[in-house]
Amino acid sequence: MQRIFIAIFSLLLLSCNSHAQDSKNQKEYPVSKSEAQWKAELSPAAYKVLRQKGTEKAFSSELNRIEQPGTFVCAACGNELYETKNKFESGTGWPSFDRPVSESNVDYRPDRTGGFPATEVVCAQCGGHLGHVFNDGPKNTTGKRHCINGVAMNFLPESDNR
Ligand SMILES: [Zn+2]
Repeated sequence: MQRIFIAIFSLLLLSCNSHAQDSKNQKEYPVSKSEAQWKAELSPAAYKVLRQKGTEKAFSSELNRIEQPGTFVCAACGNELYETKNKFESGTGWPSFDRPVSESNVDYRPDRTGGFPATEVVCAQCGGHLGHVFNDGPKNTTGKRHCINGVAMNFLPESDNR
């Protein structure tokens, strides 16, 4: 009986290990660079968020205050992520949007690292970590709250795009 128990326990351990390996096997994204390349190209703060899933300090980003029309692009690869027209004041201290430019411009991954189930938002072009999406957004629109690190994005005012 004890042996069976040990065998089951070993199987459980094995399956846990294979899950850990799965999460390390990163999906291939169209823009793919080595960690050394990213580190050389990005600011230390942007690298920490985009490549190491860090979170910037609340209210630290200049992008929080942006109200003029324009597009927020990925600081790592330039992919268009969010637009001012979908930005709202969430009071959290992080730029918040009720939807991305297009659902195909971002990718979602389950994230349990915070001790509770959450959904990570990453750039669909380079796989860079952007933030998380929650279901407590504006009820009159999508109900989603994309809580995004400002340091992971650059803002392009609409007038500059033309
Ligand atoms: Zn990107």
